[in-house]
Amino acid sequence: MRTVNLIIIHCSATRSNRRFTVKDLESCHNARFHNKGIGYHYYIERDGQLYATRDEDEIGMHARHYNAHSIGICYEGGLNEKGQEADTRTPAQKQTLIALLRSLKVDYPDAEIIGHHDLPWVTKACPCFDARTEYQHLQPLALEQ
Ligand SMILES: [Zn+2]
Repeated sequence: MRTVNLIIIHCSATRSNRRFTVKDLESCHNARFHNKGIGYHYYIERDGQLYATRDEDEIGMHARHYNAHSIGICYEGGLNEKGQEADTRTPAQKQTLIALLRSLKVDYPDAEIIGHHDLPWVTKACPCFDARTEYQHLQPLALEQ
């Protein structure tokens, strides 16, 4: 198993009143990353639906200099209807995200959960909420099969 010491949360930086489905994400990342697939390991659409978009043992493409030992999770949204940075997570997305994070803590108990902007030199607000504070006390719990 790959060594994972960081779980990094992102937003898609798309408006809350416009859909950006996992298919949209796939087209976007395939164009950007020369058909190497989605850079995140997980994607959570607005309705809370979780998509496993990259094998956890594969190195992602979502956080420059920090991809080798991290897992990337992205939620659909992050901008309000005017295009301003905002925590647009729906209750369903929050519920899915917590369940996913608790399950990842089972497999990677020493991994720290942070937001993209908690990394050094990241100037954007992604994921537009304080992930480090919100999830610092999360307890491990396996996902129901
Ligand atoms: Zn990000």
